[in-house]
Amino acid sequence: MLIALYARNSIDESVSPIEVQLTKCEAWAHKHGYKIIGKFLDETIIDQPVFERPGLSRLIDAVIDNNVFHIVMEHASVISENQLFLDAFYTKMDYLDITLETLKTHSFTPLTSIIGADNKRKLKLRRYADRKRASIISDAMKGKLPGGQIFGYDVGQSGIRKPNLIEAETVRWIFNEYREKQSIKRICNDLNNHNIPAPKGEGWSISTILGAKTRQTGLLRQSLYNGIFTFNKMAYKTNPKTGKRFSVVRPEKEWDHVPIPELALVDREIFEDVQNIINNVKYSRTRYLKSLPEERVMLVKEGAKTARGKRKKYIVGSNLFCGKCHEPLKTTRAGKYSCENKSCKNVQIFRDQIVVQVLKQLSIFTVEDLQAGIEELLSTEKSLSKERKLLKANLSENMSDIRNTEAHTEHRALQKEYNLSKVRLTEVDIAINNLALHDYEHKKLHKLHHKFIEIVQIYMTEPDNIELADRISACLERVEVIKNINKYDLQLTISISGILNRFLAPEN
Ligand SMILES: [Zn+2]
Repeated sequence: MLIALYARNSIDESVSPIEVQLTKCEAWAHKHGYKIIGKFLDETIIDQPVFERPGLSRLIDAVIDNNVFHIVMEHASVISENQLFLDAFYTKMDYLDITLETLKTHSFTPLTSIIGADNKRKLKLRRYADRKRASIISDAMKGKLPGGQIFGYDVGQSGIRKPNLIEAETVRWIFNEYREKQSIKRICNDLNNHNIPAPKGEGWSISTILGAKTRQTGLLRQSLYNGIFTFNKMAYKTNPKTGKRFSVVRPEKEWDHVPIPELALVDREIFEDVQNIINNVKYSRTRYLKSLPEERVMLVKEGAKTARGKRKKYIVGSNLFCGKCHEPLKTTRAGKYSCENKSCKNVQIFRDQIVVQVLKQLSIFTVEDLQAGIEELLSTEKSLSKERKLLKANLSENMSDIRNTEAHTEHRALQKEYNLSKVRLTEVDIAINNLALHDYEHKKLHKLHHKFIEIVQIYMTEPDNIELADRISACLERVEVIKNINKYDLQLTISISGILNRFLAPEN
């Protein structure tokens, strides 16, 4: 296996000095028969933001260029002492299909998940030889996004985007208002009456906020507010008859998405609610098609056809993975899957048979299993809440320092510190929210478990029930399959937050 080593000097006592880290990692690689293709170092002790470190930044480039799929380091805190930065890093590496290995724990998995399961499925890097695309992805990973100004962010030195706190507040305010069913017209009036600066400086309008559905423009659809950068939406073509260039919207499944969790501005739940509201807004389809150039109409109609065909819902699909090489399983024909890896023998896997077996396994998921999972989430929440409290205290102290300081340079440093804490607070809030523990109490444990098992059993008798399929699939993070001669070996990863989300709140 080709691997890269990463080492960094750290104030954490469980981390050795950088030379020792390297020696240990080399010995480890030798012992396991790994071939080291590069060593990436960050020697400064100062804890720079993860994606601004030169060593790590070179590592990301090397990974994208050289097809390294594995990184070895002494200890996870070599990446960061901070769990949330660690998770942001993990999310990005996961997207690049890179696995991490530490000498102490051998394999590394994050405690929390910043990106929701639905988005995780969307976020899989499609590899193809395209230099320009690779360099956009590599830059985006480090917070350098192509394109112009995006409302809610500033572009700092070195081109890295940072949340702009004042604009971020405006973004959150708009999302909240819209979610509370305030009309867009009213929202625009409020913003204009209070002289809140608009993205293009021309005042707020319905199109600024709502934009267009096909191209997913408009502030309310900006996926970056949810920590995901989307690009490659448009393709540029030449009409062979007229020689005129025109742009078409690519099918949504060809768009590129890069996870940038540290740039999320809006609570995930709020973001998702708003997307649901927007997508249910009725509009006059005929009038809309009439307003489009001819070349685009076909594309829009095609898009609608695939959307209609997709209405059936299964509990497994994009959460299916090959148990041998851990690649996603791809549909080959309707209801039939094969490993994405061409040399792999894990082929001809039938969805219906998998579904039966998954349901059987889910029906023996015990209340103790559930309890253990919830306890893990609770301990994560505890440490996040502790950090939240500290941040809040720091912020108010920091604010009073800012008020009492006259000196310009000192003022700027304080302001910077304040901004960083504020961003961090948002991240912590988002992470806490994603745990989905808000309505959980211990006395609900048995009822929750009972409800889950009950729905699994009902679904066994009603396999066409889309709503039940949807709820169950939200709880299945990953299903690894190995096909043996006459049976399947399955390994399920159950999302406890998924269960809390979909079975705790009364539905219907
Ligand atoms: Zn395989």
